[in-house]
Amino acid sequence: MVIEAPYYHQTHQESEVFLHAFRNRMPLLIKGPTGSGKSRFVEYMAHVSGQKLITISCHEETSSTDLIGRFIIKGAETVWIDGPLTTAVREGAVLYLDEIAEARPDVIVAIHSLTDHRRELFIDKLGETVKAHENFMLIASFNPGYQRGFKELKPSTRQRFVALSFEYPGPKAEAEILVNEAGVDKDIAKKLVAIGGKIRNLTELGLAETVSTRLLVDAAKLIRSGLPKRLACHAAIVEPLSDDGQAIESMKDLVDLMI
Ligand code: ADP
Repeated sequence: MVIEAPYYHQTHQESEVFLHAFRNRMPLLIKGPTGSGKSRFVEYMAHVSGQKLITISCHEETSSTDLIGRFIIKGAETVWIDGPLTTAVREGAVLYLDEIAEARPDVIVAIHSLTDHRRELFIDKLGETVKAHENFMLIASFNPGYQRGFKELKPSTRQRFVALSFEYPGPKAEAEILVNEAGVDKDIAKKLVAIGGKIRNLTELGLAETVSTRLLVDAAKLIRSGLPKRLACHAAIVEPLSDDGQAIESMKDLVDLMI
């Protein structure tokens, strides 16, 4: 059975950077706002390079134990269970740490020796050092705008990665993505992209995060499934972005004018 590659619209030369980083056994850091295609890109590239992908969505409780593994009690015995990082290191998979800056600091410490020439993982609970399989690749994503200044990545960590910056695609590419992802016609796609562009420019709304490609895809899917266009935009674009009554009203007015 041939599994089809996930759809991904390339915007820069990101796949070349990925393939060369992979070839040179370098870890990759993908920076960019939420919903800008980072995860989709990783899924696509893992498929193209024939690699198994293991994704971990990091949050503030994610610790090195979650990644490396732990002892569990099974009947009368205590057995060791590899965590996803250890599995990826042993088997040679792509490990994607989504939103790495959210994780606890010990995660950064744990991956340290995997991000340089050593390419090895030290499992302190086993007293074992595991050399990474030659196909192991570490990828991390990071949203620089998120919680501004609060969760940063230290320069010494960042400099261990080859890095790529993601932005929302240009209007033509973004419309194509909507057509492909949601099956809407070009005209609707263009209107949604125009709405996205307008709201992105309205800095006075004070949004913590602005309209992502993901939100536009969601709106397009609701329209495609038959929800009235304005309602679809209110539900998929406006409401997820803000709880501020005035900001919501301004965005709804704008949407109603544009679609
Ligand atoms: P991120 O990981 O940056 O938060 P995702 O990769 O999950 O974002 O993208 C969110 C959605 O936006 C995807 O599910 C897909 O529908 C769409 N998308 C964004 N950029 C692209 C792209 N370049 N090609 C295809 N789909 C994209």
